[in-house]
Amino acid sequence: MLLRTAGLVLPSLILLCGAGFLLPITAQLSAEYQQILTLLPYPLALLVALLGYGFNRSRIVLAALNLTGAYWLIQNGLQTSLNQPDAFVLFSMISLLLPFHLAFIALYKERGLLTPVGLIRISIILFSYGALYTIWNQGTLGLYLTDLPMMMLEMLLHEFYLSEAAALAFFLGFLPVILSFILRKTYTDAALLAALISAFIMLSWFNRPMISALFVSASLIALGISVVQNSYRMAFIDELTGIPARRALQDKLSTLGKRYTLAMCDIDHFKKFNDTYGHDVGDQVLKMVAAKLNQVNGSGKAYRYGGEEFTLVFTGKSEEEALPYIEQLRETIANYPMHIRNPNRPDDNDQGQKMRAKNDQSEVVSVTISIGLCEKTAELTDPQSVIKKADEALYASKKGGRNCSTAVHFKPKPKPKRRGQRHDYA
Ligand code: GH3
Ligand code: MG
Ligand code: MG
Repeated sequence: MLLRTAGLVLPSLILLCGAGFLLPITAQLSAEYQQILTLLPYPLALLVALLGYGFNRSRIVLAALNLTGAYWLIQNGLQTSLNQPDAFVLFSMISLLLPFHLAFIALYKERGLLTPVGLIRISIILFSYGALYTIWNQGTLGLYLTDLPMMMLEMLLHEFYLSEAAALAFFLGFLPVILSFILRKTYTDAALLAALISAFIMLSWFNRPMISALFVSASLIALGISVVQNSYRMAFIDELTGIPARRALQDKLSTLGKRYTLAMCDIDHFKKFNDTYGHDVGDQVLKMVAAKLNQVNGSGKAYRYGGEEFTLVFTGKSEEEALPYIEQLRETIANYPMHIRNPNRPDDNDQGQKMRAKNDQSEVVSVTISIGLCEKTAELTDPQSVIKKADEALYASKKGGRNCSTAVHFKPKPKPKRRGQRHDYA
């Protein structure tokens, strides 16, 4: 769990640290190189917007638009001292708009880009920065300085460029962004969090040369990477169980060396389980079995082959070496008490709780799996034929009474079979 969360934020974290590391270096660059760097966010933004649009990630496109809008105003209106009223008001407004938009983007549901909702969201961002630019361009923005509330005039800390109002906006902005990240745990939310942190750093230390170009670029790259990570996840990770999917298995099979064992695992009587308890409970069983298989020891790796079938890949192991780990898994799954809620239980949660209080109708059942395993041999050289043999061994396990493992080559000494204590549905 913690590892997965760390995996989500790691690329963004590296990018932000990289931007921080490059900051003093870019300040030393010649004017020409600096000029090129200041232009970098624009092609990056275009690339991210195209990627986001192509993969239907409207929040990514909106975040890129928000960053680019702010960056464009910074480059056009803020390359001067903030002591000038025009620049000061412009800076104050940007430092409110950036976190404000990012907070809303984090809260948005994916509703497409070229849909009425999507177009309204784009318009709000474009309008806010466009209006600000128009007023600034007329040279009248500075006139609003005297109308600004004290909160926008007072800086939070000495040598820190955020006004009290902007600091509050960032604080309030972090709440939905962090909340969305914790609840949704998506790459998009991790990138949005990185963008908000970037914006905070950039505006707080605004006087540092090249800070906006570096941190906006880092945020845009983080947004772009999140799109790629998302599509990788969609292709290679099984959505229901969260373990690697068939496509990932095909990749793995193509990289296997001289010694390996493949185990095909199939849930017993799963159809009956679905018919008795419904498809949702069937899905819960799949998740449970996948979670257990995913914890396999002995350098094994679990994949969802399809439906209620899973494949374990043991790199560098023979059937004899892999079998103890497989048997351990089979027993763990068979001994796991699976709590099933009553299929007649009403959908309404409160009513359901009352019913349960009166008469606990949840049932405890056990799920079993049958396994067939096969190692690579001189005759079975290609993984597909090893899988085929493992499948035949799986069929033998089914015929042999289920809840057991059959190896194609290795024949262990027969053991007395354990009887289940619980009602054995599967
Ligand atoms: P056996 O012990 O011989 O393997 O019997 P079985 O009932 O498990 O095998 P069978 O192949 O007849 O049934 C597999 C069932 O798996 C059919 C289908 O309804 C169910 N199934 C496949 N994929 C899913 C899924 O993603 N979710 C749910 N809930 N059920 C699924
Ligand atoms: Mg099957
Ligand atoms: Mg089955």
